[in-house]
Amino acid sequence: MKVPLLDLKAQYESIKNKLNEALLKTAETQFFILGPEVERFEGAICEYLNCKHAIGVSSGTDALLIALMAIDIRAGDEVIVPTYSFFATAGVVSRLNAIPVFCDSDNITFNIDPQKIESLITPKTKAIIPVHLYGQSAEMDVILEIARKNNLKVIEDAAQAIGAQYEDGKFCGTIGDIGCFSFFPSKNLGCFGDGGIVVTNDEKLADKLKILRVHGSEPKYYHKVIGGNFRLDALQAGVLNVKLPYLNGWSAKRRENAELYNRLFIEKGLAEEAGRAVFDVRNSVLLPKAVYKDSGALNYHIYNQYVIRVEKRDELRKFLQSNDIGTEIYYPVPFHRQECYADRKLNLYDYPVADFCADKSLALPVYPELRSEQIQYVVDTIAKF
Ligand SMILES: *Cc1c(COP(=O)(O)O)cnc(C)c1O
Repeated sequence: MKVPLLDLKAQYESIKNKLNEALLKTAETQFFILGPEVERFEGAICEYLNCKHAIGVSSGTDALLIALMAIDIRAGDEVIVPTYSFFATAGVVSRLNAIPVFCDSDNITFNIDPQKIESLITPKTKAIIPVHLYGQSAEMDVILEIARKNNLKVIEDAAQAIGAQYEDGKFCGTIGDIGCFSFFPSKNLGCFGDGGIVVTNDEKLADKLKILRVHGSEPKYYHKVIGGNFRLDALQAGVLNVKLPYLNGWSAKRRENAELYNRLFIEKGLAEEAGRAVFDVRNSVLLPKAVYKDSGALNYHIYNQYVIRVEKRDELRKFLQSNDIGTEIYYPVPFHRQECYADRKLNLYDYPVADFCADKSLALPVYPELRSEQIQYVVDTIAKF
């Protein structure tokens, strides 16, 4: 049985006619830059996420970059980021000649460990970028409290978490000052190339983001500030307008798939419960877990990735590959160990949880169109290993 990590063709096949129609519509109108499709999508996102402003941008990376520009991050400013994430989270900070200050992760959720943030704050700290990694909300109430106390802005990297919810039904990306999303094809809501969006409930920030998106000009050719070309294509917005109504269904399927994995791993005796390693860690699988707070507050994990941790990760990956099962390692090298940050002379042993995640994590296929026989086959094959 073949089980690819992701099967974009399966999703395309299921709504092919509508998508092709949207693509052709753009071809017919020849309206490519911003315009009605983009505006319609921005409105739909505001409604979906229950937020006031949405500004379509060129990618998730540019969403983060423009967000940092909007809150005036400058050379020498410090921005606290989790050391275990996709590189863009740190890269955008460095591109503004600001300093990404790395924070260790939480061992169950993979997200930034809020208990370790405060000791990293200095007079130069301006912002925190929590990442809702793999589709699960970071611990936003604690992070917001720290930010309030220290007068810091909070930019949410929600690239993997569109539709994920934190408490009180609040959507990831709408809790801090600005939320950043990516529509890279492998995200839960993917377009036909690169795309992203920033959201905020702050009108002043929204105005600034809109100006920064078009080289800082307002009106055209008059530049108050220096921005860039950060626009979302009409073609991509057309695709996203077709796909958005399906997003909740797709995310629900991912959650079902994750639950089935957990159940089957436990049935096989490879794990006792999600989020807890069994006594014999060498022969067990550490399962991902959606962590609810003591209050029982809602935590709606959308499983952009289903990530297990195992002792012999690299050998297992090869074994699965030889059995036609696709996997990926997110992320093999945390920021504090990246070559581009070697000149920071960081203490490499200050981030033990992130190192553990980087060494042991393996993402299994969890995409919505996956069949239960395929999930069973993946678990059986891992058990065999
Ligand atoms: C995908 C991703 C990004 C970047 O998004 P792009 O659209 O690929 O630029 C940023 N942060 C995280 C956590 C991501 O997963």
